[in-house]
Amino acid sequence: MNDLRHVLSELVVERVGFGIFVLDRDLNVVMWNRFMQDHSGKTAEQVIGRSIFMSFPELPRVWLTRKVESVFQLGSFAFSSWEQRPYLFKFDHDRPITGGVDYMQQDCTFMPLVREREVVAVCVTISDVTHASMMQRARDEAVAKLQEYADRDGLTGIANRRYFELRLADEFARWQRYGGALSLVLFDLDHFKRINDEFGHLVGDTVLRVTAGRVAETTRVQDLFGRFGGEEFALLLPCTGFPDAMAVAEKVRRAICETPIDVQGARVPVTASFGGAQAKKDVTSSYEALINEADAALYSAKRQGRNRSIGFN
Ligand code: GH3
Ligand code: MG
Ligand code: MG
Repeated sequence: MNDLRHVLSELVVERVGFGIFVLDRDLNVVMWNRFMQDHSGKTAEQVIGRSIFMSFPELPRVWLTRKVESVFQLGSFAFSSWEQRPYLFKFDHDRPITGGVDYMQQDCTFMPLVREREVVAVCVTISDVTHASMMQRARDEAVAKLQEYADRDGLTGIANRRYFELRLADEFARWQRYGGALSLVLFDLDHFKRINDEFGHLVGDTVLRVTAGRVAETTRVQDLFGRFGGEEFALLLPCTGFPDAMAVAEKVRRAICETPIDVQGARVPVTASFGGAQAKKDVTSSYEALINEADAALYSAKRQGRNRSIGFN
């Protein structure tokens, strides 16, 4: 019975679909199963009785020594997942389309083999997690892309209102805490309904896209440019006081009105009206209040004849 059990366990160790090998205190190989043999191209006879580093000089010597040593000393399991270290051995994987995975991705377990309360050897298992890691990577990439889409406006590619307000709330909280300057500029294209009526909705869309592109080119990296609604846009200007914010508004206004937009054989003149506001210490109580002030200024710009920028005061 004992004999049968022994034979069976040997068979299992040989046939299982993951790597099993055993190291002694000097990191000499004591056991080497079929999986290790098949994937490394080195037979048990070739590796047993020698240091693992002699057979595999490319192994991370410091890391592996420390890992095995800790199991000897503490007598407890240790692990390493592909997320920390993608692989221990440079094994080929069986996936032709790999999406950037160079070697078989591996999870490793380091298990103490105890005899009479003393760790006499460490058993290491190597699992092929290439498939799972590729799925995980693909999932992470998809989530990042979705996140990116979730933050952007579909027509113009700039920040959408939801993301803009999130960032505005952040910047406002930072300003409340640390002071400095913070300004907001809102602008709205003038008589846009007429543009749609005269040239059609598709031309209107192109005008929105081209205008957004022009404005994006004039803004600094630390500024945030977003689409607030139909033909209404917003600029979040951190570390920017009132005069500078109004200068930005004027620069953007000129960039929009100076050159008509050529689209589908038509030449469409575009102008916009701007309202600016800066956060004022002990006065501006919320970022919503800042939006309302900029909006009130924008409304004044419209009333005073459009194609101009007005600051809130
Ligand atoms: P004002 O100078 O007072 O801002 O006049 P306006 O015509 O621009 O203002 P109003 O708010 O009356 O009209 C905005 C128009 O913008 C109406 C709407 O159909 C159009 N619009 C909103 N979103 C889009 C869009 O995504 N594409 C197109 N082509 N038009 C849009
Ligand atoms: Mg408008
Ligand atoms: Mg509008």
